[in-house]
Amino acid sequence: MIPLLDLKAHYAALRPEIEPAVLSVLASGNYVLGEQVQQFERDFAAYCGTRHAIAVNSGTSALHLALLAAGVGPGDEVITSPLTFVATASAIVYAGAQPVFVDVDPETLTLDPKRLEEAVTRRTKAIIPVHLHGQMADMGPILDRASHSHLHVIEDACQAHGAEYGGQRAGSMGVSGCFSFYPGKNLGACGEGGLVVTNDDRQMEIMRMLRDWGQEQRYHHALKGFNYRMDAVQGAILRVKLAHLEEWIAARRARAADYDRLLSGIPHLRLPVEAPGRRHVYHVYAVRTPERDDLRRHLEREGIQTGLHYPIPVHLQKAFRDLGYAEGDFPVAEAACREVLSLPIYPELAADQVENVAEAIMRDVYA
Ligand SMILES: *Cc1c(COP(=O)(O)O)cnc(C)c1O
Repeated sequence: MIPLLDLKAHYAALRPEIEPAVLSVLASGNYVLGEQVQQFERDFAAYCGTRHAIAVNSGTSALHLALLAAGVGPGDEVITSPLTFVATASAIVYAGAQPVFVDVDPETLTLDPKRLEEAVTRRTKAIIPVHLHGQMADMGPILDRASHSHLHVIEDACQAHGAEYGGQRAGSMGVSGCFSFYPGKNLGACGEGGLVVTNDDRQMEIMRMLRDWGQEQRYHHALKGFNYRMDAVQGAILRVKLAHLEEWIAARRARAADYDRLLSGIPHLRLPVEAPGRRHVYHVYAVRTPERDDLRRHLEREGIQTGLHYPIPVHLQKAFRDLGYAEGDFPVAEAACREVLSLPIYPELAADQVENVAEAIMRDVYA
């Protein structure tokens, strides 16, 4: 069996480093925020090339705080992609604002900057480009359009730790960038976790307060805040893991290059595109085919697990019916939802396993 990802193999390789780090937190008596989380914040900000990092308890919390710190609230509209995990849109709703979707670019499946013009209104306050599958959205034109109307750009980098655009790291180009450390992400905790990076001192201060009940100092609540604090155990584990992230990205990129080579030229099979000037970190390696469901069943019979990122765009989810969108509103995203199929990819995946997957696909296509 070749799984879509293998968290047990991942842990086994790191166990000698993670266990002492966890045990030392358990012995320390400090279980929430504290030294381990602060050090992780410093390390992660340095990795992204930003001044500040605020660790929280999930990627969703990170998005929520970033929106609040940017001043987004009731009556505002926030533009984002319909081809994302539902959390992007949910965080906009948590902030009291309304999600407004624009379609995605057919090559990269990230927010299409050409579509922004028709979506911006007097109520638009922010744009959340989603760095889907590990590739950054086309930030240049997005930032240009945003600055023209004084809009905040908040990056949803929950799938894109270490991705780059023109040499700049994911999270460092907008006013803030949001990350998730859900276990299956490219940098994953052993539980939940998230983080916001920013260069803005004022927004940093607001987010630091909001994640810890809005406290300026103990029991002095300047803002109506939340319990969005990161556990010390997760901070310690993430510090250990961050030191390996570049080697994992290199491994993912090598396996993606293997897939690119082995699968090129197969009829009706589109491969993911790495746009010029970007570094894709392949959180997901998604091929596209009109016979997606047949191929998925065939691979399952061959013992190869696949995923769907995502089968239903957010604007067609039952929970977001109140926004008033209908089928046909975002044809590029809708077609992607019918056609994408995520193949196994993770740092421990061996080159010969990629060959097995490619051969199984060929057996189906040429059967
Ligand atoms: C995972 C993810 C989130 C949410 O992160 P959680 O840590 O699960 O809350 C948000 N946006 C995108 C694009 C994601 O992939």
